[in-house]
Amino acid sequence: MNALPETHPVWLVGAGPGDPELLTLKALRAIRRATVLLVDDLVDDAVLKCARRSARIVHVGKRGGCRSTPQTFIEQLMLREALAGERVVRLKGGDPFVFGRGGEEAEFLRAHGVQVEVASGITAGLAAATALGVPLTHRDHAHGVILVTGHPRDADAALHWRTLAAAAAQGLTLVIYMGVAEAARLQHELQAALPGSTPVAIVQHASRPAQRSAVTTLGGLVATLEAESLGSPSVIIVGDVLRGLASLPAAAQLAA
Ligand code: SAH
Repeated sequence: MNALPETHPVWLVGAGPGDPELLTLKALRAIRRATVLLVDDLVDDAVLKCARRSARIVHVGKRGGCRSTPQTFIEQLMLREALAGERVVRLKGGDPFVFGRGGEEAEFLRAHGVQVEVASGITAGLAAATALGVPLTHRDHAHGVILVTGHPRDADAALHWRTLAAAAAQGLTLVIYMGVAEAARLQHELQAALPGSTPVAIVQHASRPAQRSAVTTLGGLVATLEAESLGSPSVIIVGDVLRGLASLPAAAQLAA
């Protein structure tokens, strides 16, 4: 009788924002044990150096060949490798459960009887705040923080931005992922409830050697992105917690 090979749990691992120093010990252990790693675009090569030499590394992001690997293909591949007895790590930028489709992947694997383990990662929004030296919930300025996508799926985009503007006006810091392509809309819609002088920061490649940032106002967001050639991957932070930054434009300093 053919015994089924032992099936190991699939690990959904947060690779953090880039700097390998920001990996958790749990993530590092999972990466070192892995025989197969399915890796997203946003995972830094420095993190991949932690994998064993014999491990098979499959890039399933845009660098993987096609524009973007279909989600169903990734899920099937994880399942197939796990059932073949491999120690599979699904490595994702930041935290696997923050805009990373980690939830869908975990559901898929569990539905097929494969155990799932999760290693949290430092999400890009936190690394971006650290890059600026800004506490996202400084109690003089904000009583909370919203991690939000600039690209709401199936949602009414105008309502999405109006709701966020109202929340920011009530003292919640906005940390916007995937917002660069939507910057013109974001700038326009948020100004319905927030003054154009509201402080805004953009941080690209947070925690990586290529890290760059700019501090501006809501009214100056698009112009600043263009002038500084800041693109994806970037996090956009909006709110009064940025007021302490010396690099904040004079218009926002005056409005404080
Ligand atoms: N799971 C990831 C987010 C994936 S969504 C996390 O927890 O960080 C992809 C978006 O994350 C990008 O469009 C960008 O907004 C942000 N992002 C990821 N890595 C980043 C980095 N090093 N610096 C700035 N933004 C980053």
